[in-house]
Amino acid sequence: MGNFSIAIHGGAGTILKSDMTPELEAAYNTVLKAALELGFSQLQLGNSAEAAVIAAVSALEDHPLFNAGRGAVFTKNGHHELDASIMLGHNLAAGAVAGVQHIANPVLLAAAIMHHSPHVMLAGQGAFEFALNQGLRIEPDSYFFTQFRHDQWKAVRDTGTTALDHNLQGIESLIANKKFGTVGAVACDQTGNLAAATSTGGMTNKQYNRLGDTPIIGAGTYANNRTCAISCTGHGELFIRAVAAYDVSCLMEYAGLSLAQAMHKVVMEKLVAIGGEGGMIGVDASANISMPFNSAGMYRAMQHSNGEVEISIYK
Ligand code: ASP
Repeated sequence: MGNFSIAIHGGAGTILKSDMTPELEAAYNTVLKAALELGFSQLQLGNSAEAAVIAAVSALEDHPLFNAGRGAVFTKNGHHELDASIMLGHNLAAGAVAGVQHIANPVLLAAAIMHHSPHVMLAGQGAFEFALNQGLRIEPDSYFFTQFRHDQWKAVRDTGTTALDHNLQGIESLIANKKFGTVGAVACDQTGNLAAATSTGGMTNKQYNRLGDTPIIGAGTYANNRTCAISCTGHGELFIRAVAAYDVSCLMEYAGLSLAQAMHKVVMEKLVAIGGEGGMIGVDASANISMPFNSAGMYRAMQHSNGEVEISIYK
């Protein structure tokens, strides 16, 4: 039996202790701990890295504190559009879903697409029909609603007087807010297989049908047993342009960097150079974990078979 480990994140951004109440901080820590334990117990039982990341991500999707599944942010036209993806390191199998509504657990839909369709990515109505056929849980808009995110959206939505101003001010306000509440998990199981999964509602007041990095294999999610499994969170447009998750893998495979070196280069140098705020979690086939971010904070947690456990929010 080899070492095994899991890491999870609940988004990065301007997460400052000064903005946090003790109660809210405790709530975040409790949910992160519960999701971490769900994922880690899968690995302890000898189950796959895939089972571990699905257990952790679906638990975070179910919790309204995070911007994924229940509690997702609002699009410009007041809906919730969800993106998710999953990838397995042993065979490079991948599944992704983009811009779906009413799917309670987009990560389960991404996994179903990976296992039960000839495709990697489904979007919109086709994805929804596939979810119905797979018997996945469908919920009404009210299930995804949170007052907090509705207030956030209204504050951004109501700022502009013309469409263009509105767009610009929306973007400025988002940049001022700088909170990205996506969730994700990466794991290395007892056999050394890797998996990564990521799920999000995207960015507040996003243009409807806008897609971020989360459903894009290589941008927000990547896994390859030869190198690493990566799940990203941050300003998706920049992570797409940086091909961020795959770049970590490339730096390991072709330049011989370690996981920590490669992640540091991408997050602290390459993303910073183009203004790409956020972070990522990663694991390699020896179960080493790294969780760098270039923002003020990132909700994150990890557990290793050697007994190491960490649950943190700030730098
Ligand atoms: N990366 C996500 C997106 O751009 C946002 C996030 O990480 O919260 O859609």
